[in-house]
Amino acid sequence: MNKLPIIRRSLLLAAALAWTAPVFAQDAEAQRAPVQETRPAGSQQAKNVIVFLADAGGVPVLNGASLLGYGEPLKLRVQQWPHLGLSETSPVDQFVSDSANGMSSIMTGVKTHNGVISQGPDGARGERDGLPTKTLLEYAEEHGLLTGVITTQSIADATPAATYAHSNDRGKWGEIFPQALSPRFGDGVDVMFGAGRSRIGDQLTAAGTSFDRLSEQHARPIYSTLAEVPAANARPIVVADEMDVHAATLKAVDLLEQSPAGYLLVVEWDAHTDDPREGLQNVIDFDKLIAEVERRVNLGNTLLLFTADHSFGFQVDGGTRGEELLAGYDAWKASNAESDIVRLENVLVNDTHTAEEVPALAIGAGAEGVHGYFPNTHLFDVIMDAWGWQPDSSPAD
Ligand SMILES: [Zn+2]
Repeated sequence: MNKLPIIRRSLLLAAALAWTAPVFAQDAEAQRAPVQETRPAGSQQAKNVIVFLADAGGVPVLNGASLLGYGEPLKLRVQQWPHLGLSETSPVDQFVSDSANGMSSIMTGVKTHNGVISQGPDGARGERDGLPTKTLLEYAEEHGLLTGVITTQSIADATPAATYAHSNDRGKWGEIFPQALSPRFGDGVDVMFGAGRSRIGDQLTAAGTSFDRLSEQHARPIYSTLAEVPAANARPIVVADEMDVHAATLKAVDLLEQSPAGYLLVVEWDAHTDDPREGLQNVIDFDKLIAEVERRVNLGNTLLLFTADHSFGFQVDGGTRGEELLAGYDAWKASNAESDIVRLENVLVNDTHTAEEVPALAIGAGAEGVHGYFPNTHLFDVIMDAWGWQPDSSPAD
């Protein structure tokens, strides 16, 4: 190589710099900006994020819910959303995920083992803690946002737990639930509405504490029904026997909308279809709630994301338009059959989680990051990018 052209290029570059110094300064700034963003240039930054998690709500379950609820495919509200990706859910050592790994991966950007709640893969279920992996809820708390977690299931069950707790075993509810009141960042979950009161209560007793004692220690009442929450309580916790997630979500949005800095809300609705009518009806009801929330929020500064923690062995493999999708259901239900395989006329259920990718659907600020096939950990990046935040350099801290 001849040195002269290099020198001349340098001279030209120096001259160019001298003339265009302000532009260069901008460029340099741009180069210092984050380089791994998935939020495309020009897309809106999110102030608020709502994650709707249909537990076990895979592609075939959405399909079945539309057919049962509306007699036709593609009638769910979430099926109208503009941004779709397929999210891969496996844990680090197997093909099929449970809710613990599935939700931990979405919430922390780090895949782990089944049964483990927001700890790295260095943990072993029930045997050894892994490093805690920082959750989106913890990032939101650290940034001064309000946060909320709502579920039809136990508030200490794996899916909600993965937002606020770290444990080497999803079954340790006596260790998981109190972490909501002893947060690592901010002041912890602001709005918590879930079920599981009696079983969590039993495990708290076994762990030497109770709802009452935790309430006193942390000066936060833990109500047993939504109706008990006084209007003045801006950070309510309800652990009920059953949770009306529709009412709970609308109440939570009322409270969280007051946040000047924005909010993160995670809503889980069970969508296991081992009982196909109940499971599909749950998805129909969840979708109606999502449509209602979508009409209320400002999509210019709010990201809505719908996804599942893992898929499920449900298939529509027959049927005729205008006729009943779940023909044979009542006879099956009456038979009290215990089999893992449910064979209805048009529907086959294999009562187990399955490995194939689940839908991720998005609308609103930062939704453009959802497209193509990706590991579920990508959804963590999509949400962080929507907020314009960088994760800590090490995912575990
Ligand atoms: Zn699950």
